[in-house]
Amino acid sequence: MHQDLPHVVIVGAGFGGLRAARALREAPVRVTVVDRHNYHLFQPLLYQVATAGLSPEDIAHPVRAILRRQRNASFRLAEVESVDLDARRLETTTGPIGYDALVVAVGGATNFFGLRSLETSALPLKDVEDAVAIRNHVLRMFELGVQETDPDRRRAMLTLVVVGGGPTGVESAGALSELVRLVLTKDFPTLDLKEVRVVLLEATDRVLADLPERLREYTGETLWRKHVEVRFGARVVGFEGERVALQGGEVIPAHTLLWAAGVRAAPLADRVASRRGPLGRLVARPTLQLPERDEVFVIGDAAFLESEARPLPMMAPVAMQQGELAARNVVRWLRGEPLEPFRYRDPGSLATIGRTAAVARLGRFQFTGLLAWVLWLVVHIVQLIGFRNRLLVLVNWAWDYFLYDRAVRLITRPEHGDPAAGGAARGSLERSA
Ligand SMILES: Cc1cc2nc3c(=O)[nH]c(=O)nc-3n(C[C@H](O)[C@H](O)[C@H](O)COP(=O)(O)OP(=O)(O)OC[C@H]3O[C@@H](n4cnc5c(N)ncnc54)[C@H](O)[C@@H]3O)c2cc1C
Repeated sequence: MHQDLPHVVIVGAGFGGLRAARALREAPVRVTVVDRHNYHLFQPLLYQVATAGLSPEDIAHPVRAILRRQRNASFRLAEVESVDLDARRLETTTGPIGYDALVVAVGGATNFFGLRSLETSALPLKDVEDAVAIRNHVLRMFELGVQETDPDRRRAMLTLVVVGGGPTGVESAGALSELVRLVLTKDFPTLDLKEVRVVLLEATDRVLADLPERLREYTGETLWRKHVEVRFGARVVGFEGERVALQGGEVIPAHTLLWAAGVRAAPLADRVASRRGPLGRLVARPTLQLPERDEVFVIGDAAFLESEARPLPMMAPVAMQQGELAARNVVRWLRGEPLEPFRYRDPGSLATIGRTAAVARLGRFQFTGLLAWVLWLVVHIVQLIGFRNRLLVLVNWAWDYFLYDRAVRLITRPEHGDPAAGGAARGSLERSA
């Protein structure tokens, strides 16, 4: 690779960053992709890792393998700690990296809205470690719950609360309920299903708020059919590990709280000396450049385009489309040509609620049930990176579908103070992976 070519550094090998890197493959530039993980993670299927359906390896792919054939690109494993905009330099855990053009594609992070007890005790779902921690914890609660002799405590152990009626919350609640009713009932013959609750708490009056009313109604009904208790107007204000406190004073005894109620820009956005919009996202011009820096582009979950009437959703298609435009605009900027503004092409929305149940909005068309579910399966398989991952996921799904099974029912780490591991029982949860 020519060392005197302009150096384009992309921070983040997620949906946006990788798309930008690949779109630069023919450009006369050197590309360095920097990420704190050595893999690209397909986050839309994380909930299936959390609910014992898939292994982390099935939905992650090494960045080096993805970039292997791209001669002008290299990968660097490092966490970026800060950006010196004046010096055009990143400070990272493995030393400084200079750039001529920078693409910030650091994605999002869990947002607990400052609720300290949730930060300590709730289970977020943002990365592989979170998903494995949820799987470990839920399976452990069933192991300990069936041994518990105090009925109130047993019911609290067998109550799984999911917070947030967006796609992640709906998909997780549906999958947890099916995990219990279709699979764990076989593993735990003494389990009394009347003592098990899966509760989905939503602060507003609707689930999947961005979808049309017909699809939202179908979602609500399907969740009820799948024995998920959906509670609207339920705002969580605290969780110390054994009791979920709601605004208004109600308390739900539960040892598991999966937090799917908030995202914000990744912490690095706070350390870039530039203006931030809602949810800590970096304000970007329509061309995706920072307001005061022509050579710095920001895309995906970390970007906020003031020019849009409504903030763009923190979703993969936005990040991918912005990744492509950022790559084109970097080249145009290097050539001194005018830059293109970003225009979002909404490909539609999909969410699955469980076996043969999903909702899909594609343009003017709306689908529910089996057809939407098949669409969901196809779209996710096609979008996964790597033939091996596609095959593994397909095989796992077929296995689960025909045998009513979940392949990955392993507790891979003891929780701190785990009675099953000889420790003393403890109130609050400890992230276990
Ligand atoms: C559980 C879950 C389910 C989802 N389901 C869907 C769905 O069904 N459909 C949909 O469209 N969207 C879904 N999303 C949202 C979608 O995943 C994001 O919108 C998308 O990943 C954003 O892409 P991005 O490139 O901005 O960031 P990401 O894909 O998150 O990538 C960011 C990358 O930056 C890296 N990084 C962050 N900070 C640093 C740093 N300081 N130094 C080095 N590297 C860093 C991270 O390791 C990561 O690899 C889901 C998200 C989650 C969490």
